[in-house]
Amino acid sequence: MTRQTLEVLAVASEIFPLVKTGGLADVVGALPAALGRQGVAVTTLVPGYPPVLAALDRSGAALVLPDLFGGPATVLSGAVAGLDLLVLSASHLYERPGNPYLGPDGRDWPDNAIRFAALAAVGASIGRGAIRSYRPAILHAHDWQAGLTAAYLAYGGPRPPASVMTVHNLAFQGQFPASLLPRLGLPDDAFRFDGIEHHGMIGYLKAGLQLSSHVTTVSPTYADEIRTVEGGMGLDGLLRYRSDAVSGILNGIDTRVWNPASDPLIAAPYKASSLNGKPANKAALQERLGLSVMPDAPLFGVISRLSWQKGLDLLPAALPRLIAGGAQMVLLGAGEPELETAFTTLADAHPGTVACTIGYDETLAHQIQAGSDFLIVPSRFEPCGLTQLCALRYGTIPVVSKVGGLADTVADGRTGIVFDAVNEAGLAAALDRAIALHHTPRAFKALVRCGMAQDVSWDAPAKAYANLYRALAGRAQH
Ligand code: ADP
Repeated sequence: MTRQTLEVLAVASEIFPLVKTGGLADVVGALPAALGRQGVAVTTLVPGYPPVLAALDRSGAALVLPDLFGGPATVLSGAVAGLDLLVLSASHLYERPGNPYLGPDGRDWPDNAIRFAALAAVGASIGRGAIRSYRPAILHAHDWQAGLTAAYLAYGGPRPPASVMTVHNLAFQGQFPASLLPRLGLPDDAFRFDGIEHHGMIGYLKAGLQLSSHVTTVSPTYADEIRTVEGGMGLDGLLRYRSDAVSGILNGIDTRVWNPASDPLIAAPYKASSLNGKPANKAALQERLGLSVMPDAPLFGVISRLSWQKGLDLLPAALPRLIAGGAQMVLLGAGEPELETAFTTLADAHPGTVACTIGYDETLAHQIQAGSDFLIVPSRFEPCGLTQLCALRYGTIPVVSKVGGLADTVADGRTGIVFDAVNEAGLAAALDRAIALHHTPRAFKALVRCGMAQDVSWDAPAKAYANLYRALAGRAQH
């Protein structure tokens, strides 16, 4: 029996490979192919940033909007890199250089509230049938930028399609002044505690959490954590109230892009059954980054946003122990200026032993995953985390804190090293364990092989999303 294809409209502000500032883009870019194999057809509505428009050839106008929040807009339909896209082309909102959220001064664009209300409003109107011949069964909104989608659906008339709100990181909530309400095109009575109001402001993520048919986050443990006072960032009460409609679905990674057996970005291919290529990647990494080429030195990698969330401020204090243990460290990241300075200073002080690259570099990220022995992820909270999944796939042992998706994906002593107390002592003890493990090659290799055998693909998560969509679509029909 063939299943009927289910149409889903995803609404998101980033999509790999076109626009990426973090894991959100990876997820939004990878899910459609995996869901396609589950009989779910995903079309993604994204803002028409310059790189998106540039990539879109042979596109057609699916919808013309003469006035979208102060300017004309068109929804272009097209395909890029195997992704079915609807691109919201609105030059007054999105055609700006650089980062999708920040102006040249490094601050949020002052009109972000309008830019992402527009995205959500258009998503909702398409969900309600604005494009003839396209009627998605489900709207799937990602993060606060798409949070108002459920509000425009809820206040836009009877019988809206079912909606899913996925929280990739509860720390980013999209809160804006209540005075904005008249400009949003939502009714005044939307501004209430069980609507879009959040502590006297308009909460975009809060609206999505409140008004969507279902809320997912990106790991089961994070789904539990966000319903606690400690992890709920002010939204735990609402999430507890909606507990029956909250669940966690782990992220996967694109195992074709992240495949050490065929990765064109790394020095030598390898696989679990034949790890012979891994040392060549270590040597190439050491050479590229100016480290002493020492095959036996435990090599620790870090690939991360440099922020408080990621716990990397704990690392400088642990570094002397690593160095005393004969280890080396390579860090790739960008973020908080104090952390960038701290790691650059450490690299300058320890030439040949510590290397620090500030910036965003996809190729180097692959080379660090392939060349390192360990990957350090000491996050204070971590909705899912993708780098540890890549590390597992590349036979690089993750050293992670026991939070969120890290706790769900790394098994202490079996596939990695997991530590409880996210503080300097906790991290130092975990790094000591890593160095000791490196001195026992049989045990070390056992962890490597076990990690590489773990299924980190999108197959299981896509099944879980497909089941959720079908359940919601079925419910909406009754
Ligand atoms: P985040 O909280 O930043 O989304 P994740 O681990 O979920 O963290 O996803 C981060 C993604 O971005 C991963 O694919 C990781 O490899 C990548 N990444 C992070 N920082 C860098 C960087 N400086 N250069 C290249 N890739 C990076």
